[in-house]
Amino acid sequence: MADKTKKSSMYDNVMKQFNYAADVMGLDKGIRKILASTNSEISVHFPVKMDDGRIEVFNGYRVQHNNSLGPYKGGLRFHPTVDIDVARALAIWMTWKSSLVGLPYGGGKGGVTIDPSLYSMNELERITRRFTYSLGENIGPDVDIPAPDVNTNPQIMAWIADTFASTKSPSTRMLNLHVVTGKPVGSGGLKGRDRATGYGVVASIKSWAKLKGIDLSGKKFIVQGFGNVGFWTSHFMLELGAKLIAVQDASGTIFNENGIDTETLHNHVGNNKGNIAGFSDAEKIDNGKFFSLDCDIIIPAALGNQITGANANDIKASLIAEGANGPIDYDGERILLDRGIDIIPDILCNAGGVTGSYYEWLQNKRSEDYNIATVLKMIDEKLSEAFERTVNTANKYNTDWRTGAYIAALERIEQTYMERGVFP
Ligand code: NAD
Repeated sequence: MADKTKKSSMYDNVMKQFNYAADVMGLDKGIRKILASTNSEISVHFPVKMDDGRIEVFNGYRVQHNNSLGPYKGGLRFHPTVDIDVARALAIWMTWKSSLVGLPYGGGKGGVTIDPSLYSMNELERITRRFTYSLGENIGPDVDIPAPDVNTNPQIMAWIADTFASTKSPSTRMLNLHVVTGKPVGSGGLKGRDRATGYGVVASIKSWAKLKGIDLSGKKFIVQGFGNVGFWTSHFMLELGAKLIAVQDASGTIFNENGIDTETLHNHVGNNKGNIAGFSDAEKIDNGKFFSLDCDIIIPAALGNQITGANANDIKASLIAEGANGPIDYDGERILLDRGIDIIPDILCNAGGVTGSYYEWLQNKRSEDYNIATVLKMIDEKLSEAFERTVNTANKYNTDWRTGAYIAALERIEQTYMERGVFP
């Protein structure tokens, strides 16, 4: 549970990654300038009435990085570390991610600077609705489509959809509900969107294992974060016969050499305000020991900048699969690459989420209803293609996989600009 979430550093990190890839591929200078800045940055301050009648004012953000490939797309995070730099970094990653996977989207991201555990459900509903109202026409089904991220969930998406649609003409209500994805299934949500990101993380790990000729059965893995991404990733890893030996979340770190059952831990978390602390089938260990545990695979699925120059040398795993966005900083990555540790980069590894979101959006636009098997098959196809494209591009440029993924993403955007030009 490294507290290295220095707010500006996620942005520094994404820009270092971008500049490095742009140099390696020789990205057109003009397009490089366009992509180095964001298209728009919305910062809102909005009042909300608390349960006891007090008024509090909250800060919210939405950063829209680039929409050359389609409407902005990306999550909303409710967390104390959210600020304009965090939103900026996460929005930029979304542009690359959508491009890499071949989706018709650009990149956006945002959130509210808040610790949601300090508020009642009624207060959270009012905060969400007023934030949505403050964003106004800056979001919309063909403009910018938010989705869940840290501390936001289908319920919050349902409130956003309802607020957005309710502030439009009643006759267009059904045309506006897909302003967000990750909604509950009863409100137009996609069957399988809940597990889409974790399923995609495991699909990428399977592609890695196939490439390396590795059998995942019996492999030991550890997961940081046991929310949506951490839980579902662990669930699908266990289905392959892999063994979860440690989990870390905001409440602490637990370890069991014999394996932790994901469903039992999930039930515990559900009854314990979302926390793993106090789980009886594992021992509590120091947070500082987590990344140095003896294991084969590390799956960060929490916040950014967790593996850095300070702890990259301690890592014993041979693969890090980035469920989270930006969990490895630039310096940490240089050390890991020198040590020959494989990294499946976030813009590939966790792209199952936005891919699931795309099918939800499409289902809403077409008034269709996809079944879960179809959804998971479509995620499998998109991610295995993107994995292959990443590895092939990295090989072509004789570079690492993150840079390969960036180049594959940037080539698609570069081509669009070359074809359409820059107005006027
Ligand atoms: P979540 O809110 O469901 O879970 C977050 C988890 O992180 C919780 O278990 C929490 O305790 C833990 N956590 C918070 N602070 C921590 C700290 N300092 N140290 C250790 N653990 C900490 O969020 P999520 O949706 O699972 O998202 C997790 C990560 O995955 C984020 O980086 C997010 O951007 C990324 N991601 C999510 C999706 C998605 O579909 N939800 C898609 C792509 C990427």
